[in-house]
Amino acid sequence: MTKKITGKCRICGETKKLTKEHVPPKSAFNKGKGSYHPLFDESNMCMSLEEVQKTKGQFYQGGFGAYTLCAKCNNFTGAKYAPEYQRMAIGGIVTLLKNNFKSNDIFHVKIKKCYPLRFFKQIISMFCSINDGIATTNNLTGFLLNEKCNYFDENRIGIFMYVLKSQIARALPIMIKGTATLDSNFTNPFENFIVLSEFGHYPFGFVLVFKEKHNKPEDFLELGADITWFAKCNYDTTCELEIITKVREYHLQYPADYRSKTAVEESARRNKKGGDNDEK
Ligand SMILES: [Zn+2]
Repeated sequence: MTKKITGKCRICGETKKLTKEHVPPKSAFNKGKGSYHPLFDESNMCMSLEEVQKTKGQFYQGGFGAYTLCAKCNNFTGAKYAPEYQRMAIGGIVTLLKNNFKSNDIFHVKIKKCYPLRFFKQIISMFCSINDGIATTNNLTGFLLNEKCNYFDENRIGIFMYVLKSQIARALPIMIKGTATLDSNFTNPFENFIVLSEFGHYPFGFVLVFKEKHNKPEDFLELGADITWFAKCNYDTTCELEIITKVREYHLQYPADYRSKTAVEESARRNKKGGDNDEK
């Protein structure tokens, strides 16, 4: 049975009947059941990993995704960009399966005859699905709905890619990571934070960053390989793509948190004992 949901399409911005957008595409191993972690907030700060995993809302069926796009946008991105994402995902999985990677290992793969722009636009369409309003406010509608369009403001938006070992999906809307500090005159309130959104589904994870004036390139080093330059390729340009990035795992829904299971459990134990400030 098809659900009837009307709302604002997150790519074109028009109010229409919405269709389920699979994030990532259904063809990229996203058809069946799976799990995602609920947000790890203050109410469950002291839970063990097992307790967090038992909390409500962790399963999905029929692929990870939501009713976010109209049929026209969904079909367009599905035809123009999704096949390339699928090819890349197959390349990623084959390399992951051939090697016994540990977290933080360097992942190095060469993929022949890649279409970087198509892959990139699929990633952007997924971030638009996750984040209501970013397409229309950042000129991403035209970028996505005209396959040949190269207008993409790389001084404002950066996309970083990592390889994901975890089988758990993650879709984090825009949030702020880091510390906001105030100087004595309250004139310089924010200087050490990143505005980001993150998406992960085996075998890839991506971080979208809104670059703020205070950010320096080194702020983004831990987020993965910078693939923002893909935006400037042509739709039909192919190349042999060499991807060098880190293998990551995650266990919680904190953005850019790639601690191992043991490190997460250790941190939860410390919180339970009475605060996180008693570290050596
Ligand atoms: Zn639309």
